[in-house]
Amino acid sequence: MSLEAEAEDLASDLGVDKEEVLEDLEKLVSYSVPMDEAKQSLRRKYGGGSGGGGGSEPTTKDIAEVTPDDSNVTVTARVLTVGQRSIRYQGEDQTIFEGELADATGTISYTAWQDFDLTEGDTITAGNAGVREWEGRPELNLGESTTLVFEEEELDVPYEVGGDRDLADLQPGDRGRNVVVRVLECEEKTISGRDGETEILSGVLADASGKLPFTDWDPHSELEEGASVRIEDAYIREFRGVPSVNVSEFSHVIALGEDVETADSAPEMGVREAVDSGGAFDVVVTGNLLEVRDGSGLIERCPECGRVVQNGQCRSHGAVEGEDDLRVKAILDDGTGTVTVVLDDELTAEVYGGGLDDAREHARDAMDKSVVADAIAEKLVGKEYRVRGQLSVDDYGANLDATTFEETDDDPAERAAAVLTEVQS
Ligand SMILES: [Zn+2]
Repeated sequence: MSLEAEAEDLASDLGVDKEEVLEDLEKLVSYSVPMDEAKQSLRRKYGGGSGGGGGSEPTTKDIAEVTPDDSNVTVTARVLTVGQRSIRYQGEDQTIFEGELADATGTISYTAWQDFDLTEGDTITAGNAGVREWEGRPELNLGESTTLVFEEEELDVPYEVGGDRDLADLQPGDRGRNVVVRVLECEEKTISGRDGETEILSGVLADASGKLPFTDWDPHSELEEGASVRIEDAYIREFRGVPSVNVSEFSHVIALGEDVETADSAPEMGVREAVDSGGAFDVVVTGNLLEVRDGSGLIERCPECGRVVQNGQCRSHGAVEGEDDLRVKAILDDGTGTVTVVLDDELTAEVYGGGLDDAREHARDAMDKSVVADAIAEKLVGKEYRVRGQLSVDDYGANLDATTFEETDDDPAERAAAVLTEVQS
């Protein structure tokens, strides 16, 4: 059914103006609200199918009392954060404002569909704010039907006003966040966006609390490798189970005169805890190496996509001339859970004790490629390792892409080798 037909049905059901319903419906759908949920929300807004039309009177509520079942409410709150973002609505870019409001009882996210000139710290009364549900929680919609009043008297709230955060405290869904960071890695990329090919920046940010990946959708010249910057008005999305800092055309990037201090260490976690957290950009786990899996040692990759080629066949590109590479996929167990540790070519060469040429020669002499993986397994299996890297969790399991891989042993020579590994990678 077309959007128009849905709107017509709903409007006649509710006994209200079709254009009005259509406009609301388009807005909700453009904001990725599923059709069923969008219709439900409009039924609530226009009086739940009583046929009488018109919304119910909004009640004044404390923020903690607002539920997704409310159609509209009036709240008096302090503006904690204001983030600006552009979305495509009816084929045109529209600027929206998002953030959090708080009163003494709690906080709530909001989206303002027009510019009410909200500033962090303002105390406002939002009359007739729409309520919608997002992942089980209520959110406020401030739009044309909302009356917004700036209050003289400042509302005291037990929450931090403003978007300043440490990287470790960022959560997917956060808006209007400010961070003070050092750019550890930064590269230009060309992507095919909705307006054709666009240049973006992507890389890694660090502060004293940790590291996170970032994407700058509107490249700021201040973001370059080694730079220390303050980024204002970033929003946070989840990427491979990890919060990712998104910098947009509305963000401000300010170059700082002093180097921002960054953490050298990563948080140590149990495997179970790390996997349950859904992923981590930089984490340390320690466990016993149980098994070196198939697809380790001397492998071949598709020159097109980099996937591992089996019997000369790539899953996406069919028969290809594979390129040799070294890799280890090994199962690490710490008693709380297991994770597949992935070592890249460099770390594999270190544990194997030789590079690609050595591995090729080894395989040629034995007339069998699997001797490389066997040799690696012989060295690794049954020992305890401390692994640092990026953990991603998906339906197929948990993978830890190692940046450092060291045997836990109090033997000073081993320790020295481990430190060397860390320095080199
Ligand atoms: Zn391929």
